[in-house]
Amino acid sequence: MKCRKCGGKAVINMRQHKLALCKVHYLEWIPEQTERAIHKYRMFTHDERVLVAVSGGKDSLALWDVLLRLGYQADGLYIGLGIDGNIGYSDASYEKVRKFVNARPGVHLEVVDVEQAYGASIPVAADHTQRGKGRPCSVCGLTKRHIMNRVARDGGYDVLATGHNLDDEAAVLFGNTLHWQLGYLARQGPVLPASHEGLARKAKPFCRLYERETAAYALLAGIDYIYDECPYAVGATSIYHKELLNQLEAERPGAKLQFYLNFLRAREQGAFGAVEKEVELLTCPTCGQPTTVKGQCAFCRMWERVRERIGAAPV
Ligand code: SF4
Ligand code: ZN
Repeated sequence: MKCRKCGGKAVINMRQHKLALCKVHYLEWIPEQTERAIHKYRMFTHDERVLVAVSGGKDSLALWDVLLRLGYQADGLYIGLGIDGNIGYSDASYEKVRKFVNARPGVHLEVVDVEQAYGASIPVAADHTQRGKGRPCSVCGLTKRHIMNRVARDGGYDVLATGHNLDDEAAVLFGNTLHWQLGYLARQGPVLPASHEGLARKAKPFCRLYERETAAYALLAGIDYIYDECPYAVGATSIYHKELLNQLEAERPGAKLQFYLNFLRAREQGAFGAVEKEVELLTCPTCGQPTTVKGQCAFCRMWERVRERIGAAPV
């Protein structure tokens, strides 16, 4: 297989794009595609400050690398969840992030350790809440969203960027479609505007790139990342949906991309307009972040209860 651009030996063949590229041209192609998505969906500009949520995995580190290569003002945010499993997941992922930062003098990384900041690790907090019984993902998601917003707001960032790729987005879309969750469908997109003061704009610059493509980029760019998934991801419905979509993709290259792009087109044409109603947002008296309920937000209520139950000091 030959590189379409130079005729050299191709390292990747993307059947869905009918495109094979060598290492040099692939390492150019991914930033070009990312830049296109950033412009097309008006995610952010070179004058804005971007906070990239990094987990130590391929997508987030590759995204940070690409944004830096493209000359964006991109800082990183790592959230220490305190998840061990039998692989020491959080420690191992933090090590990868540190390695990335050490290899790039001058880049800035914000670090928030959940246990230090709020009194318990994610698994411990989950054990002490109704929401987390059996699986800590709901506690984890709520906590990560809160921290990302807080760091973005306190640090004066214009936008929060995450490494969600096409496989992630298509799997979420598939799940939302199976259950016809119109509210979620209306809000799913490459960019989510800051709808309230204290909420950062969210952007997913890799949303049109296959997972296989971001993995290949990380590998070819020499980025060392954590291969293992979080131990709590095992058995997640989203992984099952990804497998189903992969089966479809194997038979019909490009099906995943078309599924997602056609959805975006329908969304743009107002297919979900009727359900996109304004939700009145109030301000949490404890943390100052927006909330849909009166009084404390779900994050503050949950963490206060956790600290009471484990006898930790209030923060
Ligand atoms: Fe958090 Fe792990 Fe669940 Fe992801 S899989 S939400 S990192 S606990
Ligand atoms: Zn709050």
